[in-house]
Amino acid sequence: MVTAGGTSRADVGVQDGRIVAIGDARRAEREFDATGMLVLPGCVDLHTHLASTPTNTPLDDFEHGTRAAIAGGVTTVCSMVYQEGTLRAGIERGLRDAQRSLADFAFHTVVTDPNDAAIAELPSLARDGYSGIKVFMVAPRFDERITDYVRLLRAAAAAGMLVAVHAEDHAIVARATADLHAEGHDAVRYFPESRPAEAEEAAIRAAAQLAAKTSAAVYFVHLSSRAALGALAQAKARGLRVYGETRPLYLYLTRERFEEPDAALWVGQPPLREREDVDAIWDALRSGLLDTVGTDHYPHRRAAKLAPGLAFDRVPPGVANLETLLPMLYSEGVRSGRLTVERMVDVLATSPARIAGLRGKGEIAVGNDADIVIFDPERTRTIRASEMHSACDYDPFEGWEVTGWPAVTLLRGEVAYAKGEILARPGAGRLVARAPSDGAPSYG
Ligand SMILES: [Zn+2]
Repeated sequence: MVTAGGTSRADVGVQDGRIVAIGDARRAEREFDATGMLVLPGCVDLHTHLASTPTNTPLDDFEHGTRAAIAGGVTTVCSMVYQEGTLRAGIERGLRDAQRSLADFAFHTVVTDPNDAAIAELPSLARDGYSGIKVFMVAPRFDERITDYVRLLRAAAAAGMLVAVHAEDHAIVARATADLHAEGHDAVRYFPESRPAEAEEAAIRAAAQLAAKTSAAVYFVHLSSRAALGALAQAKARGLRVYGETRPLYLYLTRERFEEPDAALWVGQPPLREREDVDAIWDALRSGLLDTVGTDHYPHRRAAKLAPGLAFDRVPPGVANLETLLPMLYSEGVRSGRLTVERMVDVLATSPARIAGLRGKGEIAVGNDADIVIFDPERTRTIRASEMHSACDYDPFEGWEVTGWPAVTLLRGEVAYAKGEILARPGAGRLVARAPSDGAPSYG
């Protein structure tokens, strides 16, 4: 049995959906023999796009996305929902969509228009358990509306809400993109130049200033570069309440992929980076500078990614990742000696649950929800999109040989996945009310 604090040989007793005992061996109505297996907490992915918007239903909606999640050992997903006039309307749409969820779920509410009415909604949303918002610094009018964003972050801090931030500087990205188009450099191979690491670094520095000024707790999503990590380290060293997430793409792939004919299949924002960035991200995951790995799960069919004539900035960003998140981090991180298994559990389950205020999740502990993965550390599989549960027709890691896969996934004590079969029904997932983020910095 693995927790962020250590590994031990122990029985885990479950009753009425909760963990009620660790370490004793009372008889139970139903028993799972986990000999030779690792018993892990269900993973908590703070970054997915499963909810619809008025203009878009994602290929992996809640049902398809959480089938992949459950098969991959992810038992709680946090999806983005978008402001629709009011923030509450976006959440209500998310709640309707999530009626088909197989995994437990929560939301980050993306604020696209930080007007007075939206800001005034925050206290009641926080009281109702929707204790997180997201802002895009890469939005065209971010700088222009900075006064509104400052008020938004102050209100979020006062309400105890975590602020997820997409940190890329709009001006740098817009200028680089326009320059490349002017030179006729429209191909995906130029995508990394359009969103340089300096754009991430500049945005993180600016966001750290905002965090200092407003006391907001800031969660930086999908950090991809050594430069971004440098800015994050400085913000943490100042004692600010800031957290960093990275994403599997940046752990396993480099920009060379964008030289290939089907380069667009790997397009996400920010782009893939250099080998030295990949190494820096592994170091930061190990040291605690980075707090979590989230997928940004948002796949699009091969034909949509590879549509002829799409310029680098028109490729729909995002890939499928929920089913491979845990197995790949185990295989490439733990087995290869880059991460301890305890650290893996921390970044995939314990820290995300703590940071997002998802109480009862992310740790095998008495009183917590019995979200448990019985993980076979010796099972080797080759990743094939045809065997994955996402609705997508390709996988960004197609052909990778991965050792270590979930054998059984329990959601609140119910068997949601076993022996390759999804057993949970659509609608088995429940909303997790988010408590205020505890805010304690975990690093430095
Ligand atoms: Zn995202």
